[in-house]
Amino acid sequence: ASGYYRVVKENRNLYNMVQDLKGNIRVYCRIRPSFSPETKNIIDFIGEDGTLVILDPLKPQKEGKKVFQFNRVFGPTATQDEVFKDTQPLIRSVMDGYNVCIFAYGQTGSGKTHTMSGPPGGSMKDRGINYLALNYLFQLSNKRKDMINYDIHVQMVEIYNEQLEIRSCTSDNGFCLPDATMRTVKSTTEVLNLMKFGEVNRAVSSTAINNRSSRSHSVLTVHVHGEDTSGNILRSCLHLVDLAGSERVDKSEVTGDRLKEAQYINKSLSCLGDVIMALAQKNSHIPYRNSKLTLLLQDSLGGHAKTLMFAHVSPEEDSFGETVSTLKFAQRVSTVELGVARLNRESRDVMQLKEQIESLKKALAKKE
Ligand code: ADP
Ligand code: MG
Repeated sequence: ASGYYRVVKENRNLYNMVQDLKGNIRVYCRIRPSFSPETKNIIDFIGEDGTLVILDPLKPQKEGKKVFQFNRVFGPTATQDEVFKDTQPLIRSVMDGYNVCIFAYGQTGSGKTHTMSGPPGGSMKDRGINYLALNYLFQLSNKRKDMINYDIHVQMVEIYNEQLEIRSCTSDNGFCLPDATMRTVKSTTEVLNLMKFGEVNRAVSSTAINNRSSRSHSVLTVHVHGEDTSGNILRSCLHLVDLAGSERVDKSEVTGDRLKEAQYINKSLSCLGDVIMALAQKNSHIPYRNSKLTLLLQDSLGGHAKTLMFAHVSPEEDSFGETVSTLKFAQRVSTVELGVARLNRESRDVMQLKEQIESLKKALAKKE
């Protein structure tokens, strides 16, 4: 068995290398632990190679098997560190000048926030990708400081009912969002404080299942600017996205604000799917403008960026319907092949000229 695992492992490393070259979309599935041992568990098999088999609780064993294939499947016992380990190469490539987008998809209660932020309350134990990624970025920045001088800016944004709300930033030199502001951060502690502030600002009760956080998209954006000793400049950004719950809301049961929210969520999640599919089909028109979410992620969702989607599922049988629909969506995304990821690295002269063009364009737009 150990020989088999070694081969699988080596294949996976090779696979990651090829993926790096192609810069296409990766899809990881994560299954959270079951919280009710008395209910049936629908997980049948998790393969080292990214295979996942689930069982339809209403069908006899054999007929009820559904097989899915992802780049990787994390079972209920997978730790935050294990999950991060497979994400780390992507984070590293941000420091090399690639744009990266990581998003957590799945129904409410499936573990999206756990993966991205960690458990509620913000204890240091089990911190999620947001923290681990930033920590790693600072480590790399420190390690390379004799060769490259990095500047790291962070932005926290919430999209609720197609409205962008800036959650925790002070005014600096926002250049990604129309009115956005950014904050330069020098250490993980500063980021932690920023995140806490953002979370408080998000003003949600973590107990109610239908709280606002499950109905809004939360985006943590990291802008990296680096300059090496010979004047080459790299500029890249990393989006870390905790999406709104993907569950379908029974329209006959909700009215008013809840209905409006459900419609906005449907719209933005399906726009995300449309954008990914349009990229896959290499359409000339990519419908980024159809939702705030895709507009915000535009620079890191193109063929030149690297994208990682975490598809979250609950293992309990009463989630079967939503689990299947999450896995189907994720499977569709994972078959997408994007182009070659592009390095955003140029000489200082070219970068300065480009910046000049941009500011002239802005000045012109103001005049008109
Ligand atoms: P979502 O953000 O998708 O609505 P949460 O991340 O809030 O879901 O997860 C729901 C509950 O399950 C939370 O109490 C969370 O701490 C817990 N949980 C989720 N994933 C895990 C995991 N892998 N290990 C332990 N607890 C988890
Ligand atoms: Mg959540």
